[in-house]
Amino acid sequence: MHLDEELRAELDDLSAQGLLRTLRTASRAGPRIEIAGRPCLNLCSNDYLGLTQHPAVIAAAAGAVQRYGSGAGASRLISGTLPIHEELEQTLADFKGTEAAMVFTTGHAANLGTIPALVGRGDLVICDKLNHASLIDACRLSGARLRVYGHGDLGKLASLLGGAGNFRRTLVVTDGVFSMDGDIAPLRDILSLADEHGARVMVDDAHGTGVMGPDGRGTAQHVGLPTQRFINMGTLSKALGSLGGYIAGSGALISYLHNRARSFIYSTALPPASAGAALAALRVVREHPEIRARLWRNVGALRGALRRLGLTPVSEDSHINAVVVREAETAVRLSEALLDRGAFVAAIRPPTVPQGTSRLRITVTAAHTLGDIEQFAGAMKEAFEEVGLPDG
Ligand SMILES: *Cc1c(COP(=O)(O)O)cnc(C)c1O
Repeated sequence: MHLDEELRAELDDLSAQGLLRTLRTASRAGPRIEIAGRPCLNLCSNDYLGLTQHPAVIAAAAGAVQRYGSGAGASRLISGTLPIHEELEQTLADFKGTEAAMVFTTGHAANLGTIPALVGRGDLVICDKLNHASLIDACRLSGARLRVYGHGDLGKLASLLGGAGNFRRTLVVTDGVFSMDGDIAPLRDILSLADEHGARVMVDDAHGTGVMGPDGRGTAQHVGLPTQRFINMGTLSKALGSLGGYIAGSGALISYLHNRARSFIYSTALPPASAGAALAALRVVREHPEIRARLWRNVGALRGALRRLGLTPVSEDSHINAVVVREAETAVRLSEALLDRGAFVAAIRPPTVPQGTSRLRITVTAAHTLGDIEQFAGAMKEAFEEVGLPDG
């Protein structure tokens, strides 16, 4: 009882600050869903290409279950490696243009396994301040000296790299597309600074995979850099509509991680359904560029609608549109007002984003129609009129 009382008090505290989080049940993934039995547009998923609902992807997941069963039955290094894992890893390596690739059960697990395998005591790991929580956690877990530079602050990065000589190995870690701001890391500058100091760069392309670059191959390709220069991390869980994380890189890197990435070694292999879905999704990405084109068309339409409402996203670098309203309370009220009008946009609050930068993170997908976006624009107009525009 004592513990529960303490926990209740902390929850009450969060609630008083507008920071309490509760689960909301959606009827499914996809652009048009129901919440509590009411139809609404879903404008806060990472299903950027709509592939969670794509018939070929669904059929491939079902087919993999029929062929291999509901689970892989063991970790990859015991008896859990199936032909579908090998096929997926080969396909990912081809897609990323690297020698080899490996999959983890989630993107989170990929980061938590990879970073501590590569750096530890006596090493230096450097992060952008807005890196994803799983990267920060992985860096802390590694035991390496963790240094953080202000978002995109290359001067600070350069000065931190100046100290690399005191360490055995130095790793710079960055999101490719920043998940909550939607801007793109200055990969060219980061890489050249890292090169100067003998450091390696790891890019988390959770939000770039399948979306960025001429063929959806990711942020490095988008900015015209060879992927071989990076340790490439990405997820199967966002634009690819499945679940899982991957690392793509040299054969030596992948073999090393097979031996040293604890979240890979001590965890059951990715289920066949997820592997099958991801494989089919990669095929759809390759064969149907028009789906990506539809995403960008919809992003353009959304931006136009936001502009007409006098709203400017933090960045227009990517498909992620963050409208900052500062106070957590405001974000929650706007989110509620939107839901009342049939549009689901979750409020993003600390600690996911820094204090005073609460926001609506709006994501249209390739599966939305222009009509959906028009409907959403109407809901936004009314919601902002009801709650009030953030000034400044
Ligand atoms: C979502 C995300 C992850 C975690 O991936 P999951 O597959 O959802 O575990 C890692 N990094 C970034 C930048 C993300 O946005």
